[in-house]
Amino acid sequence: MGMENVLIVGTGCAGLTAAIYTARANLSPLVLEGRMPGGQLTTTTLVENFPGFPDGIDGPDLIQRMHQQAEKFGARFRFGVVEDFQPGDPHRIRVDGEWIEARALIVASGASPRYLGIPGEEALIGHGLTSCATCDGAFYRNVPVCVVGGGDSACEEATFLTRFASKVYLIHRRDSLRASRIMADRALANPKIEPVWNSAITGYLRDGAGEVSGVTIRNSVTGTESTLDVKCVFVAIGHEPNTAAFRQALETDANGYLRQVLGTATAVPGVFAAGDVADHVYRQAITAAGQGCAAAIEAERWLAARS
Ligand code: NAP
Repeated sequence: MGMENVLIVGTGCAGLTAAIYTARANLSPLVLEGRMPGGQLTTTTLVENFPGFPDGIDGPDLIQRMHQQAEKFGARFRFGVVEDFQPGDPHRIRVDGEWIEARALIVASGASPRYLGIPGEEALIGHGLTSCATCDGAFYRNVPVCVVGGGDSACEEATFLTRFASKVYLIHRRDSLRASRIMADRALANPKIEPVWNSAITGYLRDGAGEVSGVTIRNSVTGTESTLDVKCVFVAIGHEPNTAAFRQALETDANGYLRQVLGTATAVPGVFAAGDVADHVYRQAITAAGQGCAAAIEAERWLAARS
């Protein structure tokens, strides 16, 4: 069992920024890379709104740079999934069967994509059902696909998919998009994107090989059911915070996000939460990075006050 000054859970924007700051404070943080190293930016394309990159930067590239920057200052990385957490002095965190002790803990475990909850859905993930256009879009060249959702992610994915697909249906449950104006306008102006308003997917159709071959949809205004022939469904309807190992010990809000009581501090002394695991309001790369910075400074001050 090791004893750490600071354990950081997560290597998205929040975790990596916390790693850069705590490493530069000579705390030699241990950073856990979980099931999705690099977090959500690794599944995105061009990030156009991260300050300092006027021509944009690819999400995976941005994450790789942050990772290098953290390593340069002495952050240590290891793969592992947190299975259990016992708050205390020190805190105990079980990672892949091994207990790690840490004086301070920064939870930056992010959020995972949501799916529609249609029976049998799980078995189709990777067989024509996905939440990542960047990862899977290139497999669907010159065939029709659909994107579900009406937010920035849905518009971004739909626009990206027009590089490959013959047609992209944008299926949204209402008749107007939630996405920011610039993203919505760009998507709706694309001749390959066809919005399907007021509609929800009610079922998936499969071919003989078990791959998605279409969807059934229901129009909530007219009540009519219809079928769309698509080879892949890209779901972009938001995310769930990754709190499974922490829910027993840390307070969450009504939406399941970790509750911060003062700055990034949770109600448990020495435990800080940063980024999408605690933020259902802003959910931006830059705000996650900002929270990672704040959590690192607060953890550093908390440790200093006790030494
Ligand atoms: P979001 O803004 O929460 O949008 C989710 C969309 O999915 C909404 O349109 C919602 O419909 C729909 N939806 C939710 N549950 C559904 C269900 N069960 N069935 C069908 N549709 C459902 O999520 P997001 O698009 O992932 O964006 C999350 C955050 O990341 C936002 O703050 C966004 O600005 C940010 N983001 C930014 C960029 C960028 O700037 N480059 C790119 C991607 C994401 P309703 O509209 O009816 O609620």
